[in-house]
Amino acid sequence: MDKLILTVALNGGVPTKEMNPQVPVTPEEIAEDAVRCCRAGASIAHVHARDAEGKPTLDPEIFARIHELITERTDMIVQISTGARAGRDTADRAEPVRRIRPEMASLTTGSMNFPDEVYENSFEVIEALATAMKEAGTKPEMEIFEPGMIENALMLVGKGLATPPLHFDFVMGSRGSQPATPRNLIFLSGSIPPDATWTVAALARWQLPMAILAIPMGGHVRVGLEDNLYYRRGELAGNEQLVSRIARIAAEAERPLATPDEAREILSLKPREPE
Ligand code: ZN
Repeated sequence: MDKLILTVALNGGVPTKEMNPQVPVTPEEIAEDAVRCCRAGASIAHVHARDAEGKPTLDPEIFARIHELITERTDMIVQISTGARAGRDTADRAEPVRRIRPEMASLTTGSMNFPDEVYENSFEVIEALATAMKEAGTKPEMEIFEPGMIENALMLVGKGLATPPLHFDFVMGSRGSQPATPRNLIFLSGSIPPDATWTVAALARWQLPMAILAIPMGGHVRVGLEDNLYYRRGELAGNEQLVSRIARIAAEAERPLATPDEAREILSLKPREPE
């Protein structure tokens, strides 16, 4: 079984400091938190950008600053969000990828309902984002909110817009997406190509149990304040705290954590070019 790749989803587009004062918002705060999470065992930093007011933005300059600060201070894989929370224009969503050429970016391969809005990703949008990633040499993490999105990701391979082995992230337990149940995780992880890798990102109270389940299944784990603001019921969490808890559980389960370079190997990313 591969070593465990821990992704920290540091901030997302929705959580605010009013909801949890530990949510990192500025590029400096995001990088600072990434450094702590890297020390605690995370090898991928999944990031969203925020403007001066703390609202989600697709501003490539802000993404570039976050990317620069994290890669200067850690050897983590930086995974940029191409989600539509910060804006629906497809070219704008692709621009940070084109500009920064990050090692990874998120790619949601279908449409669904968020609790407060429709998250629209037509085939045209998906293919445009996949094309930008292909041209940038960026590996997509296929964000799977519904089983049909797996098939849509495989269609990208058929069209030459994504290169196997694919990496999937099963997003579970958000209203409008697949429920976070063991049966669903077994079904989803059994529905991807044998050479593909997968991570589970379950929301809120589901984050911990689904993460624990993924460890002996050979999956990888995403935790962080984007998906879950609490350490336990009634107690707000910090990103480092959420990462450390999974690191401890994985150690007890004798599933060693992957370093960023080991994660690159597991995910078939190109080795980092020497500075
Ligand atoms: Zn995200």
